[in-house]
Amino acid sequence: MVRSLFALTPSQIAAELGLSKAFQARQIYSWLCRGVTDVAKMTDLPVALRSSLSSVPVISSNVINIQKDDDGACKLALRLYDSNVVECVLLTDKEGELTACLSSQVGCAMGCAFCRTGTLKLTRNLESFEIVEQFIHLQNNAPGKISHVVFMGMGEPMANLDAVLTAISFLHDPKGINISHRRITISTCGVASGIDRLSASGVPVRLAVSLVCATNSKRSTLMPVNKTFPLERLRASLVKFQSSNSRRFTFEYCMIPGENMSSSDASALASFCKGLEVIVNLIPFNPCPELPFRSPTKQEIRDFTSELDRLGVPYTIRISRGRSIKGACGQLAAKYQ
Ligand code: SF4
Repeated sequence: MVRSLFALTPSQIAAELGLSKAFQARQIYSWLCRGVTDVAKMTDLPVALRSSLSSVPVISSNVINIQKDDDGACKLALRLYDSNVVECVLLTDKEGELTACLSSQVGCAMGCAFCRTGTLKLTRNLESFEIVEQFIHLQNNAPGKISHVVFMGMGEPMANLDAVLTAISFLHDPKGINISHRRITISTCGVASGIDRLSASGVPVRLAVSLVCATNSKRSTLMPVNKTFPLERLRASLVKFQSSNSRRFTFEYCMIPGENMSSSDASALASFCKGLEVIVNLIPFNPCPELPFRSPTKQEIRDFTSELDRLGVPYTIRISRGRSIKGACGQLAAKYQ
């Protein structure tokens, strides 16, 4: 017996539940996409069928904590079937559009020095249904329809790409939740082999690469992944991604005073961007008590961006929402176990 009906196609639901009528599986699928997890509430199914399915595990996780802040951010902690806890965040932008920030792993093995999740180490990969369920719980707590999905929560999506792509296929299905591929972003710390697999998959989602430093020596210190996939290797994968996908990607650049905001850091960033069609998202470091860094001051940000202006690097400054509930970039680290 499956642990959850989420992330299954209607024909897989029919097979799992032994339904002989395909349309009944489609009815169940449609209820799931609307966030209904109680078979008794699937009112277009015959009463006898509802009662025979009453013991089927429809959803595997439950919400154990909800935190909201004044920015419109809402962070959920979900208890998984094995008692592990994972977090996901609903973000509201200035136009009121809603984005689900989803996790792909419990913890993370990548050990980026500026990330709170990295301090947890990796417990396990999430199953595709656990990824979809995060979206469902967020949608059930949202003030409107979620229009965007980003894989920027706990974990490295490229290290669990099969489950992430299965979840994306469910979230994208035009007959179901119907989120367009171009509104889905996978973020990676630079796992070049995963970028290659994503290019080969042909799934036209957007890509965000957490660059943080554009010299190998500094990047290897802050991001151990750089020892396996140094900048030259990463760049080769990005060129392939851009040509196979004809899409721009973004570099996420977490600004950490004393680490990556000098004029030579700006020059290295400008050289690395040359020839790539890319925009740099500058994100001021979000402070966490566990980590030895601080946020940049307004003046430090001005100094760094004026260097980028001089060097012609296209950038935007992204102020993370959800800081007050520790739901901003790099701040997720469920401590409910
Ligand atoms: S930034 Fe991403 S890849 Fe790096 S430790 Fe944090 S969750 Fe893992």
